[in-house]
Amino acid sequence: MNVDKLSKRLERVSTYIPSGAILADIGSDHAYLPCYAVKEGIASKAIAGEVVEGPYQSAVAQVKETGLEEHIAVRKGNGLEVLLTAGEANAITICGMGGSLITRILNEGKEKLSGKERLILQPNIGAQFIRAWLLEEGWELTAEEILEEDGKIYEILVAQKGEPGNPYAGLNDEAAILMGPFLLKEQNEVFKKKWKQELIHWRRIVQQVEESGNERSLEKKEELTRLIEIVEEALQK
Ligand code: SAM
Repeated sequence: MNVDKLSKRLERVSTYIPSGAILADIGSDHAYLPCYAVKEGIASKAIAGEVVEGPYQSAVAQVKETGLEEHIAVRKGNGLEVLLTAGEANAITICGMGGSLITRILNEGKEKLSGKERLILQPNIGAQFIRAWLLEEGWELTAEEILEEDGKIYEILVAQKGEPGNPYAGLNDEAAILMGPFLLKEQNEVFKKKWKQELIHWRRIVQQVEESGNERSLEKKEELTRLIEIVEEALQK
């Protein structure tokens, strides 16, 4: 991967950045995404935020090497605190992390969200935590995508405030938050593969708990059994 050729995952993320956007890429690491977005004329300006020194230095070096110092500000800091004001960016990407960390970054940085930006979030796991947070905070999910690259499955969630339509209408809420309302309606091959793998994994854990007879794991077994039922039912539709 480099700034000319992104991974399929980040390339798909880039397609949701509005044209001419001021992009903030949080947890930017090498700053590949903001460099690509500015170089390709998708974003007009960008902020690359990074909390860890090593990746921050990689981002600084990459922006310099690409000659984009005038268009991309690389800032060191935790999550959305790198934004100087709420609304400084009108597109925010947070990619390649777990859903619970992405949710924490959004929640802790709430005061830096004006409500006018587009959020483009790419969790590696735990997308349900983000969907629940978006619902709670009044963000509308406007698109979702699931893709496979190098044997790994990724989801992309796009959200904005004040968008019409309710993608959860007519769906079992719990299934839709867990699996994604758009993805659940579409049920493409990657989606089916992801949930079949998850079911195999969960059934194995349930079996292990049953064999161990460990009373303390009973609650976990019951919760997994319930989730298995929800997912099995959703996949039959
Ligand atoms: N976004 C890139 C991508 O999708 O390829 C890099 C993903 S990398 C696995 C996650 C990056 O997020 C790491 O460089 C890590 O240091 C950074 N990170 C983790 N928590 C962060 C936070 N709270 N604020 C800013 N950056 C964070």
